[in-house]
Amino acid sequence: MARQAAGLPGQPRKETADEVVASDAEQGGHSGELLALQDIDSEIDAVVHRRRHLPERARVDADVSRIDSMRSDAATLRSELGGLREKQAAFEKELASSEQRRSAIEKRMFSAQTTSTRDLQAMQAEAGSLQAKASDLEDEILALLEATDAAAGRLGELDSSIATAGEALLVAAKELDEAEKTIDGQLSRLRASRVGAKAALPEPLLARYERLRSRLGGVAVSRVVGRRCSGCHLTLSAVELEQVRHAAAGDVYACEQCSRMLVVDRSGE
Ligand SMILES: [Zn+2]
Repeated sequence: MARQAAGLPGQPRKETADEVVASDAEQGGHSGELLALQDIDSEIDAVVHRRRHLPERARVDADVSRIDSMRSDAATLRSELGGLREKQAAFEKELASSEQRRSAIEKRMFSAQTTSTRDLQAMQAEAGSLQAKASDLEDEILALLEATDAAAGRLGELDSSIATAGEALLVAAKELDEAEKTIDGQLSRLRASRVGAKAALPEPLLARYERLRSRLGGVAVSRVVGRRCSGCHLTLSAVELEQVRHAAAGDVYACEQCSRMLVVDRSGE
C-alpha cells in the first residue's frame, strides 16, 4: 500500500492505517499502557453517561415538570376565581343600587304625600320591575357564589398537591445530590488514575491516541478478539492477523479497517 500524500495546507489530514503501521516501530511496545489508558477512558465515558442519565435525575425532572404544570393550572384557576369575584362584586353593587332605588320609590308611594293615580301606577310599575331585576341579580349572585366555591375548592386541592409535590421534589433532589456525589467520587478516582496512565506513554503516541479517540467515538485502542477487531468488528486480513499474532508482546499495529490501534491483550497470559 502506498502512503497517502499530505492533505491540503491548513486542512486536517486523515490518518490512514498505513501511516499508523509505518510509525509503529517508533512507538515501541506500549500496548499494555495503551490498553490501560483506553480502559480508564472508556470507564470514565461510561460513568459520565451514567451521571447524565441517573434515575434520580429523571425523578427530579418529572417532579419539576409536574409542579410546573400544576402551578400553571393554579394560575389559570386563580385568574378565573378573580374574574368570578369581580363579576359578583359588580352584581352586588348593581343589586344594592337597585334596592336603594326601589325603597326610595316605595317610601314615596307610601308617604302621606298625595300623588296622582297615574304617578302612583308608574311608581308601582317601576318598583315591580326593580324587584324582578333584583330577583334576577340575586339568582346570578347565587350561581356565581357556587362557581366561586367550586373553583376555590379545586384551587385548594391543587395548592395542597403542589405543596406535597414540592416536598417530594426536595427528597428527590437530595437523592440526586447524593448519587452525583458518589459518581463524582468515582470520576475523580478514575481521572487520577488517568493521569498515571498517561504518564506511562510517550507524548507522540499519546497525541495520536487522543486524536483517534476524538475521531472514533472515544475508542482509539481495540483488542484482537478471535479474528476480529473489537473496535469495528470486522475480520482482520490474514496478513494483519499474522502480524498481530506474531508480534512481540507490547507491539502496536493499526486496524486497516478502522485505524484503531490494535493490540493483543496479554494481561491474562
Ligand atoms: Zn478495526
